[in-house]
Amino acid sequence: MSGTGTPPPVTTVDLRVIASGSGGNLSILSIRRRDDPRPVHVCIDLGIGPRTLARRLDAHAPDIDLDHVRAVVVTHPDTDHIRPTWRRSLESRGWPVFAAPSHHAALARHGVPGRQLLPLTDGGRRAPVVKGLLDVTIALGPHDDHGSAVLRFGLDTGPVPKTIGWATDIGRVTPQVRDLLAGCDFIGLESNYDPVLQARSSRPPFLKERITGGHGHLSNHEAMETVHSMTDHDRLEAIVLLHLSRECNDPEIVRRLWNDRGSGLAARLHIAAQDVPLDSIRIFESIDHDTAGLLPYPDLTSAS
Ligand SMILES: [Zn+2]
Repeated sequence: MSGTGTPPPVTTVDLRVIASGSGGNLSILSIRRRDDPRPVHVCIDLGIGPRTLARRLDAHAPDIDLDHVRAVVVTHPDTDHIRPTWRRSLESRGWPVFAAPSHHAALARHGVPGRQLLPLTDGGRRAPVVKGLLDVTIALGPHDDHGSAVLRFGLDTGPVPKTIGWATDIGRVTPQVRDLLAGCDFIGLESNYDPVLQARSSRPPFLKERITGGHGHLSNHEAMETVHSMTDHDRLEAIVLLHLSRECNDPEIVRRLWNDRGSGLAARLHIAAQDVPLDSIRIFESIDHDTAGLLPYPDLTSAS
């Protein structure tokens, strides 16, 4: 094929990490389309309650209107990822909640209406979260008893589809998780603790063992190694480090580690915080976004 192709329906995609850490996790993907002035928002986890979220959006992201949320994806049913205070809002808003089937019973106990639960199937099958715009594939990572769903979002952005890997609350990176994250354009990855601060902390030994023993969380070093071991990690456009422990981590330590040993990726690093949202991260922008209608959209399908 040659000539001028059809522009993709998506004009921009942005990621906002609203809260990250054991006090609650919530991020929002926002997709804007050429043919519809209303954006489409998808929440990743609902680990802060509706009132806290409303306050944060008022203060930091007033353009996000929850009436435009089309779906929720939940990584696992811990209360820092699904707050039971969402029950009434979920019922009234009717948002579909996508999660691993093995998490559905616990999510229902945490207030997610059973009829709104939809499966994210393990084993490489894509679940259409927003039809024609966004799908998700998962692999279950080891975390406590029921694991945590590691996500791979596929965005239909036309000739150059964008992928986002999302891995939080996993004790270690299994081959399945590594395969799922391979070749992503963006990654959100937990970087929970500094091993020295963890060892020195006043936490009881059983808790330290739970966190560091392969079924808890990733350390700063493990997170960095995970990125280094990713196929094509050079092409990562942004790395968002999630779920830093307040007691056993420090953004300064993380920054220094990546500056010293991050193989040139430190400049693409964003470190999420518990109480202050990260600045919006642009995932995709259609090249004719500002001049829609003026320039022909190049047909990239003709490139070999
Ligand atoms: Zn968590």
